[in-house]
Amino acid sequence: MSDVRETVILGTGCAGLTAAIYAARSNLKPLVIEGHEPGGQLSITTPVENFPGWPDGIQGPELIENMRKQATRFGAEFRHGHIVSADLSKHPIEINLGTEIVHTRTLIIASGASARWLGLPSEQALIGHGVSSCATCDGFFFSGKDVAVIGGGDSAMEEALFLSRFATRIFIIHRRDTFRASKIMLERAMAHEKIQFLANTTVVEVLSTEQKMHGSDLTHKEVSGLRLQNNKTFTESVLPVSAMFLGIGHIPNAKMFHGQLDMDDEGYLKTTDYVFTRVPGVFACGDVQDRRYRQAITAAGTGCMAALEAEKYLENHGR
Ligand code: NAP
Repeated sequence: MSDVRETVILGTGCAGLTAAIYAARSNLKPLVIEGHEPGGQLSITTPVENFPGWPDGIQGPELIENMRKQATRFGAEFRHGHIVSADLSKHPIEINLGTEIVHTRTLIIASGASARWLGLPSEQALIGHGVSSCATCDGFFFSGKDVAVIGGGDSAMEEALFLSRFATRIFIIHRRDTFRASKIMLERAMAHEKIQFLANTTVVEVLSTEQKMHGSDLTHKEVSGLRLQNNKTFTESVLPVSAMFLGIGHIPNAKMFHGQLDMDDEGYLKTTDYVFTRVPGVFACGDVQDRRYRQAITAAGTGCMAALEAEKYLENHGR
């Protein structure tokens, strides 16, 4: 076997890129595999105002690009690819990228979690223009506006409560009239004067307006409302809102390790001591193993840990 990598990193979000910076600075010459959503969830957000060190905020894609440059500067190599399969029982580990097989002594899984979307074409067209899956990232931009949150679980309640700091009114739209949210979160949302519930309700279309951008011929689209359907009466109505926040859960990108790594009942990778999976030499970081915090900074933190542990593992194995 000619070309065995010291470490391969799956994912180019905050976790993967931080792991890449650390691994590259340790001279591990990491190969970073960039999948379907390069840059991860940060690449679909606009300004990031809670990442320490950027007092005036930074655009999500710019933050990601900076991290990428930093990793490249120290010798990280990037490659587009999608894992078809991986054999974690082999030494070195074997990763099938479809067009090639890659062998590596350590693997850092930073493949993230993708927000679950409703899947409406009108929703997809307005992501970043009033449609968001992250209230923490984008809520501030809707100060003094009416907004909607979709979902009936803790994420939706949490998003609505967070948005209540900025928005004038928040409508929680849920497809049923019973809620998965914990009692305490549900009660908190129900008791909030700014939050209203629309149960048994489905969004059938996200409505938008197009405006000319200041001093230019370019147009800018933004959400103007939601076309809703009541699931019991099938009547339709329009709710004027400036934003729609999805709180309908995330899907961890870990299916390819099914049967080889421990996962919880929703498919998140289970780790011990932050980043250790049950396979020696295989580490997981960021949103693929974190269903609790899901912040850029926490993903970066575990990315750093995973790289340090990979380095230690290689050292202990005489590398
Ligand atoms: P969840 O509990 O699975 O709830 C998802 C919600 O989205 C459900 O109400 C579901 O409706 C709805 N939904 C799913 N797909 C939909 C679709 N296509 N269209 C419309 N609605 C859809 O997910 P979550 O709220 O993200 O929570 C995940 C886990 O993290 C939970 O264990 C939760 O307790 C935890 N969490 C905890 C906190 C906290 O404690 N602070 C905060 C966030 C999350 P149905 O009910 O009809 O299926």
